[in-house]
Amino acid sequence: MFNIVVFGAPGSGKGTQSARLIDRYGIHHISTGEVLREHIKNGTELGKIADQYISKGQLIPDELMISILSDVLDTNPAAANGVIFDGFPRTIPQAQALNEMLAKRGAALDAVIGLEVEDEELIERMLNRGRETGRADDTPETISNRLNVYHSQTKPLKDFYQGEGKYHAIPGSGHVDRIFERIAEILDPIKG
Ligand code: AMP
Repeated sequence: MFNIVVFGAPGSGKGTQSARLIDRYGIHHISTGEVLREHIKNGTELGKIADQYISKGQLIPDELMISILSDVLDTNPAAANGVIFDGFPRTIPQAQALNEMLAKRGAALDAVIGLEVEDEELIERMLNRGRETGRADDTPETISNRLNVYHSQTKPLKDFYQGEGKYHAIPGSGHVDRIFERIAEILDPIKG
């Protein structure tokens, strides 16, 4: 059992580093953003609701987001061996709910990897991603909202997890390989 959170602002490299973590540790990966985008693509009821928030750069309300995550955990047997949580939690109530969900399953969070990147670089990365992938919420106005939401609602989680002794700050600028080496230096000994 190895449960980790990859934490950081939008554009900080959570998805990129999560892909490498899957290769190294072979554990299940849950990106709540990807789960929601899949619902939008498939035109589900949940997708219609999620789209109203995502397109404005706002967070999906906690109660709904927590129940979506709980469902994903219940319907993926591989999650019982551990999970890389990417993009969840994004608020203090979500972090508290995650602790409870893991405890109920006889598990706990082992570490939080905090990818730290300056806002200017985040904006540039998201604008590039928008141009390259056409991702609908990588537009100038939505990016600005997402960064505001990050600073007001998500960043306080750093203190929350520092209080639990689980937060590991990783400078998230520079070469992706070097960033990953730093992450692995922290996680290898924790995984044991
Ligand atoms: P991401 O792909 O992680 O950048 O997420 C894209 C968008 O999905 C976010 O801007 C939010 O609107 C929504 N979202 C993803 N994860 C969460 C979450 N844990 N809580 C609330 N909204 C979320």
